[in-house]
Amino acid sequence: MRGGLDLGGTKIQAVVVDEDFRVLGKSRRPTPGEGGPPAVADALAAALADAAADAGVDPGALEGVGLGSPGAVDAPAGTVAEARNIPGWGEGAYPLAAALGERLGARVALGNDVQVGVDAEYALGAAKDSPSLLGVFWGTGVGGGIILDGKPWLGRGAAGEIGHMVVERGGARCPCGRRGCMEAYAGRGAMEAEARRQAGAGRETSLFQIMEQRGRVRLQSGIWARALKRGDGLATELIGRAVEALGTGIASAVNLLDVETVVIGGGLGTRLGEPYVERIRDAMRPHLFLDERPPAVRPAALGDLGGAVGAALLVA
Ligand SMILES: [Zn+2]
Repeated sequence: MRGGLDLGGTKIQAVVVDEDFRVLGKSRRPTPGEGGPPAVADALAAALADAAADAGVDPGALEGVGLGSPGAVDAPAGTVAEARNIPGWGEGAYPLAAALGERLGARVALGNDVQVGVDAEYALGAAKDSPSLLGVFWGTGVGGGIILDGKPWLGRGAAGEIGHMVVERGGARCPCGRRGCMEAYAGRGAMEAEARRQAGAGRETSLFQIMEQRGRVRLQSGIWARALKRGDGLATELIGRAVEALGTGIASAVNLLDVETVVIGGGLGTRLGEPYVERIRDAMRPHLFLDERPPAVRPAALGDLGGAVGAALLVA
């Protein structure tokens, strides 16, 4: 048995899997809002201990534990820097693999969160019959990962940043500071900022009312899904804009790479599912050079657990 951990900006997901990567135990807890990297290491260890208890095994008896982390991940060194989505992470590189290994009494292998999610869909999920894959993670930001001829394509370490593909020159301001990126239209963070701006200017919307009713402070994926179901005008418009941006950017990436399969995951992708994947397929079509031979575009098959199961794949 091995463990897998997915560290996100709002939650930590842990799993314990068998040698066929079947999930035997799982647990989830919030990412600590304060205390910085040591508090995060504590929470990761606690989440894994819960998943191990759920599977009826001692964490120290696991073959190893994989961890998918945001930020700049140096896998051989076991360090994470610039994890901006994690509160209080700070500037320097933190030895997260060693800190977690000490707490668990197990070997810890580190990987980039998006890449492990893509690897999981490739090995076990929606692309397991495909030699090449573009994974698009539609969440707070828009991340991506590429597998070509069965091998991850990492470039010089930063490949797959499809969220910063330009879909509109001189367009909306992106959280990265540039203009017209796909993420400026499709990232949940950018969509929330635009919704707040329009609501502040008097636009009618149920988005923030749903957020308050559910005791949230951010417009999480489930809130967008509920507003869409109610036919909220602003939510419908902003999601429509996101779908167009995704279709444009993904089609451009397909023109360049000609992958067999595109998998749409991430918080929003997973929550909205096939009906919206269908809309992304339609939005891609006008931009595809070989429009008579589109790639398969599928929702991520492993859902919420994909990141944690993919992290377990890191255990050699
Ligand atoms: Zn950008």
